[in-house]
Amino acid sequence: MSDPPNPDPAAHVVILGAGHAGGTASALLRQYGHPGPITLIGEEPIPPYQRPPLSKAWLKGEADADSLALKPLEFYAEHDIDFRPLMKALSINRGEKTVTLSDGSSLAYDALILATGARAIALPIPGADLAGVMFLRTAADAERLKATVGPGKTLAVVGGGYIGLEVAASGRALGAEVVVLERESRLLARVACTVLSDFFKAYHQQHGVTFELGALVTGFEGEGGQVRGVRLADGRLIACDAVVVGVGAAPNDELARDCGLETARGVTVDLEARTSDPAIFAIGDVAHRPMPIYGRMFRMESVPNALEGAKQAASAIAGRPPPPGETPWQWSDQYDLKLQIAGYAFDVDEILVRGDPASGKFAVFHLKGDQVQSVEAINSPPEFMMGKQLILNRRAVDKGRLANLAVSMKEVAV
Ligand code: FAD
Repeated sequence: MSDPPNPDPAAHVVILGAGHAGGTASALLRQYGHPGPITLIGEEPIPPYQRPPLSKAWLKGEADADSLALKPLEFYAEHDIDFRPLMKALSINRGEKTVTLSDGSSLAYDALILATGARAIALPIPGADLAGVMFLRTAADAERLKATVGPGKTLAVVGGGYIGLEVAASGRALGAEVVVLERESRLLARVACTVLSDFFKAYHQQHGVTFELGALVTGFEGEGGQVRGVRLADGRLIACDAVVVGVGAAPNDELARDCGLETARGVTVDLEARTSDPAIFAIGDVAHRPMPIYGRMFRMESVPNALEGAKQAASAIAGRPPPPGETPWQWSDQYDLKLQIAGYAFDVDEILVRGDPASGKFAVFHLKGDQVQSVEAINSPPEFMMGKQLILNRRAVDKGRLANLAVSMKEVAV
């Protein structure tokens, strides 16, 4: 079957944000046969790159800078993609279909893709501007962090979410002392069940990480402009040489809001990644998108989500049918642990653990009735792979068989 005709072969596609989603969309447009001009605008100095290694292999020195790039720089010129680094988009004029850029120029578009991602949330507390108080969002942030952390140093990580825990594990690998400060009474409180929280806490403690749970950070204190400690609400000062604030990210949706696009927790889009303006798409961390499996909308921060959005927008622009729906998923690497998560634990009424957490190889299934809503699999690829299928197909499972390690995941699924 041949592809449907391109709706507008000459259309100029402008992509704002040269990250994982924007970079992928530019390459896919060419792969899907879009012949018209493509301009990729990015405020960072380097071509689109992967962020996950910034808190994992790259931070530990196990991957070099070139391996982060999605494509080598030459790829963009070779595929006639006008990649413009160090260029910020300042505003969108939907009536004229133009974008104003930070060099004062204006760029006309036929189709516009917003791929501006998200930014690390800052803590509005005293001392937040001291040297050594860092975030981890960009390659430049990661360079700064890597230059600071090492033997004889103490790193304080504010936030016990996935990025915070990955930074803690990498900090230990680099020889630093690490203390994690978490406001909630358990780790991963927003994103994982207590089984996983307890498991990760124990694993990190075995690797020498110290935790302060229920710890409200009220300020950073320093000497000569350099951070030297984190002040807690109970009055204690936790001494440190550097801080990573990992308390979540907020969508970069100002461009969309300022030009009147519909937004909620990000830029609202449909299953083609199209916003409330049919000429404008939004993909990746900035998009608030429908997730038909769960019958609801939400914003996700993951590489698979960035890739899916890029496929949706590129397909719509190139006149191809929309890609099939996928189960959302993501991963986290800490020490020798590979956590793979499929789906989201919405409306869950039961949690079932398959395997023994003490073995370092187990999976937590989140069930609604006899349907799997989500699975968190530690060093357990079959549970992750089959769980992903079960979530997508909405198939009922026999809980007894699911909990029984003697029954393979393949057998559970049939
Ligand atoms: P980004 O990759 O953030 O790209 C957005 C780009 O747009 C940025 O370069 C930004 O500078 C640029 N931009 C913003 N505004 C403008 C403007 N006005 N003009 C021009 N450019 C602009 N996901 C996983 O699935 N697994 C993981 O293990 C994992 N680990 C992670 C570890 C870290 C440290 C981080 C930070 C993220 C991690 N993620 C992980 C999340 C994943 O990297 C993101 O979901 C993904 O990068 C989103 O892609 P994006 O293109 O939407 O946003």
